[in-house]
Amino acid sequence: MSRSVLVTGGNRGIGLAIARAFAQAGDKVAVTYRSGEPPEELTALGVLAVRCDITDSEQVEQAYKEIEDAHGAVEVLVANAGITKDTLLMRMSEDDFTSVVDTNLTGTFRVVKRANRGMLRAKKGRVVLISSVVGLLGSAGQANYAASKAALVGFARSLARELGSRNITFNVVAPGFVDTDMTKVLTDEQRAAIVANVPLARYAQPEEIAAAVSFLASDDAAYITGAVIPVDGGLGM
Ligand code: NAD
Repeated sequence: MSRSVLVTGGNRGIGLAIARAFAQAGDKVAVTYRSGEPPEELTALGVLAVRCDITDSEQVEQAYKEIEDAHGAVEVLVANAGITKDTLLMRMSEDDFTSVVDTNLTGTFRVVKRANRGMLRAKKGRVVLISSVVGLLGSAGQANYAASKAALVGFARSLARELGSRNITFNVVAPGFVDTDMTKVLTDEQRAAIVANVPLARYAQPEEIAAAVSFLASDDAAYITGAVIPVDGGLGM
């Protein structure tokens, strides 16, 4: 059955791989993106791309209206959009901290809350949040990012308890290091140091994260809620 799926930050990286997986499975997929132009591949796949900054509630509302007009209420939400602003604590400005939290945590709150309007009406829904192994382990120089990603676990588990009886599931995928624009900024030495700690001894490909998300949104995962699924090559165990 074709579902209405929304992937935030779906124009590149992990979000693009997730959007592609749902589109190839026959779902009606929309993505939001903050800047630039979405890749032509998305248009070719029939994916609706909507520009929307998730730090702005009005833009979130507008994006949902556009998506609902085209595809109906969102049945599967993948809250993937996120940013990093890495620096050590004593160099971290208040803006470095709050802007990361405003995107990764409060931005997720904005899109999840809006999606739940339709999910409550439909008495079903699937929400998958993209956290990070860094949120579970911590990472020097990433206190802002790690705090925002750890908070997603408490957020999802609270909603899993609050809305389980309404047939809405909330799960978290915690990727390890994935080959995307976000990790391209790392030097070869930094990459080698990370890989040295990964039991599977390599980065993940975005499609490997998408596979876990597709599973959590599938009928096979109907009885899974409040779970945190690491897709990290064993890094976080
Ligand atoms: P990326 O930088 O390639 O993509 C990030 C996406 O988020 C982009 O589409 C961007 O448009 C969107 N975005 C950022 N700020 C936004 C805002 N204010 N409003 C709307 N959209 C916004 O990153 P990626 O590597 O594909 O990461 C995707 C998610 O996975 C992020 O939440 C990231 O924290 C998480 N993650 C990534 C890795 C990794 O190694 N790449 C590891 C663990 C978790």
